[in-house]
Order: sequence, then C-alpha cells, then structure tokens
Amino acid sequence: MSAILLTARFGTTVARWAQLPGGHLPELAFVGRSNAGKSTAINALCQRRRLAFASKTPGRTQALNFFELGRAGQPPSAFLVDTPGYGYAATPLAVRQDWDALAGRYLAEREALRGVVLVLDCRREVTDLDRSLLMFLRPDTPLMVLMAKADKLGASARELARRRILVTLNALERTEPLTLIVFSANTGLGLDTARMHIEGWLQTEPGDHAPTA
Ligand code: GDP
Repeated sequence: MSAILLTARFGTTVARWAQLPGGHLPELAFVGRSNAGKSTAINALCQRRRLAFASKTPGRTQALNFFELGRAGQPPSAFLVDTPGYGYAATPLAVRQDWDALAGRYLAEREALRGVVLVLDCRREVTDLDRSLLMFLRPDTPLMVLMAKADKLGASARELARRRILVTLNALERTEPLTLIVFSANTGLGLDTARMHIEGWLQTEPGDHAPTA
C-alpha cells in the first residue's frame, strides 16, 4: 500500500474563494459536525498527533485548511482539505452563512474534489444539519462516511447504528455508491480500510471513479 496520507503536512489556510490554490491537484475534503471526531480521524489517518488541530487555532476555525500530500521536499501531489466543523446549536446565523459561502460552495463547485469524507459520531442521529451539508455535494462525488467513536458502542449497538445511518444515506439521491466505515481512532478499527479508499480516490481521474463497496 502506498502511504501518501502519512506524508501530510500543513499547507495553507483559505479564508476566501479567491485564495484557493490554482493548478489541478486532486483534493479530498473532510466534513463533519463540530465534535464528531473529524480532527482525531484526520490525525489517525495521517498518523500525526496534532495535524488537524491546526484547524482549531483561532483565525483558522472558519477557513478551509489545506494539508499537502506528497514526498517531503517536493511540490505536493494532492491536498487533504479540512473544512470547518458545523452545527453548534448556538452558531450565529452569520457564521453559518459564512460556512455555506465558503465550505458549502467548495463542496458544490470545486472541480479538483475527488472525494468527501463525512465524519459522524456513531452515537448520534444523522441530523437535518448533516443532511443539508450532504445536499451541497454533487451526486457523483464519491462519499465515504466514517462512523467515528465506534469504540464507545458494543457490537449490537454498532450494527443498529450502521443500519440507521445507511437508511438515511441511501435516501439521498446519489449516483456514486457510498462507503460506510465503522471507525475508531482509539482502537484503529476501520483505519486501514479508510486509508485504502482515500488512496484509491487520489489515483482516479475525475469521472473515472473506482468502484466502491
Ligand atoms: P472534531 O470537532 O470533529 O474535530 O472532533 P475531535 O476530533 O476534536 O473529537 C471530539 C472529541 O471526541 C474529543 O474529545 C476526542 O478525544 C473524542 N474522540 C474522537 N475520536 C474518538 C474515538 O475514535 N473514540 C473515542 N472514544 N473518542 C474519540
């Protein structure tokens, strides 16, 4: 297995559409409700302790954070993009509108986007907020859903949660199959499967997506 995720390092912070990198490197984005476990998942996938916490430093929280992938000392060959966590109940409307204007537009329009990873806390229902986020995605953008914190559930509760989430996700009108992975950064459950999937995305051309399970 190639290990491109293990090369991740902080690249740049994008606060406005015009600051997005030019060029045509493949990008994959991570999205999720605040506290879902997104930063922890990114750090686990990249085997880095604090990589994604760059996104939690003041001034970067409402921006897209670009991590570079590729051999050290070389120009990057792809980007991993961390989007701002969404959905604190108390989030002011203006902040939500900012999310829609940058992260939402990025998900809907960015041509370089090769795949989206949605991180869900497996103990929580899929909310209207999660659904409205998913509505930004083009129906043919490959989607991988990580059911994070699976170590907090026993086997049968996990299976129930998996089925519940699957029903919700299958109700979306997607043309690209989605991948649902039971995931725990704490135990490593689902880590290799998720990595393999992401690496597969980075090797495909737009419109030429590898079949997903
Ligand atoms: P984010 O806001 O989505 O980036 O969420 P964080 O990655 O900061 O995680 C939120 C909380 O969930 C933190 O206290 C993490 O330690 C905890 N957490 C994240 N992933 C896991 C996991 O796989 N298992 C357990 N037990 N806790 C987790």
